[in-house]
Amino acid sequence: MNQSRLVDDFLSLVRISSPSRREAEVARWLMGTLDRMGVRVDVDDAGEKIGGDTGNLLAQLPGTAPDAPPLLLCAHMDTVIPCERITPVRDGDVIRTDGTSVLGGDDKAGVAAILEAVRIVRERQIPHGPIDVLFTVCEEQGLFGAKHFDVGRLRARRGVVLDCDGVDELIVQGPAANKLRVVVRGLEAHAGLAPEQGISAIKVAGDAIAAMRLGRIDEETTANLGFIEGGLAINIVPNEVTVRGETRSRNDAKLRAQTRHMVECFEQAAARYRVTVEGREHVARVESKVTQDYEGLNIPRDSGIVRLMRGAVEGRGRALTVRATGVGCDANIFNGRHGLEIANLGCGMRQIHTVNEWIAITDLVATAETLVEALRLNAVR
Ligand SMILES: [Zn+2]
Repeated sequence: MNQSRLVDDFLSLVRISSPSRREAEVARWLMGTLDRMGVRVDVDDAGEKIGGDTGNLLAQLPGTAPDAPPLLLCAHMDTVIPCERITPVRDGDVIRTDGTSVLGGDDKAGVAAILEAVRIVRERQIPHGPIDVLFTVCEEQGLFGAKHFDVGRLRARRGVVLDCDGVDELIVQGPAANKLRVVVRGLEAHAGLAPEQGISAIKVAGDAIAAMRLGRIDEETTANLGFIEGGLAINIVPNEVTVRGETRSRNDAKLRAQTRHMVECFEQAAARYRVTVEGREHVARVESKVTQDYEGLNIPRDSGIVRLMRGAVEGRGRALTVRATGVGCDANIFNGRHGLEIANLGCGMRQIHTVNEWIAITDLVATAETLVEALRLNAVR
């Protein structure tokens, strides 16, 4: 492993600000780097579709070992905010920030490890199968790069997304998620003069939310209302409130049940509110919109990709931890929506989505070594 090259690449990558939909500069850096390696890169039209300034990057390297199956290596180019100016600080084995931004190791640790692994197998002429390298956009805002990527372009049917904290860990199960948007409609009235002629949409929503199971529902299921907006003034009985939330579960039946429960709480609360004004009856109403955010990730623990990654980690003298998670990533789209055998490999990032984010260089190196070993093993088994 060329540790200093890997660390230099990582530092260069994190210094380039790349919030979601603004990944063009980091994409240019990657295209330049891959071009110098003699690797052709294609950019797709996902950026135009989602209002970003670049699409997903796909580099397809030919295999050097006959009959070795293709492997996908994927990471996302965008980071969460704050990331306008990232000043990485190196402190022994640890890289962190100056405390004013995230580090962006989520997911540039994955990007850097993939680059280094590809270089190493080529420099050392380690026989490998075809490699599909995919760098996606806009993962953090809802997996939009992966959702708009044409999976038919991939040769690989299996592989890894590197987008998880920790090291020597493989995520094989993750939740499916539904998004929920509910508009509660009441009836406007003067709050002092004739409150009995109104229906408070805020009161209806409040009743619904008070009756709702939220937070951790069970080991596999969570639910949250994260946004509420409504009302016009304190002297007007409010006639409209919008509530937005989500629910996630690794169990599809539980996801459906929790989604139904949340919608029903609103409907049942609304049904209790009616008022007659000048001979006309008014009832509270709700308009609910449920959209699937992403599908679940579910890779059997005895599948080829798990065996391959276990072998790769054990090749470094370590043990692989295989586990489930409560968050989604690009692998949910490739696996849950398209049926590919894509798991999520830890790449060393820590305390992600905070200004305290850090990474150990040892873990970054270990991740790249695991990928090299996976590419090698994939061609010999
Ligand atoms: Zn990520």
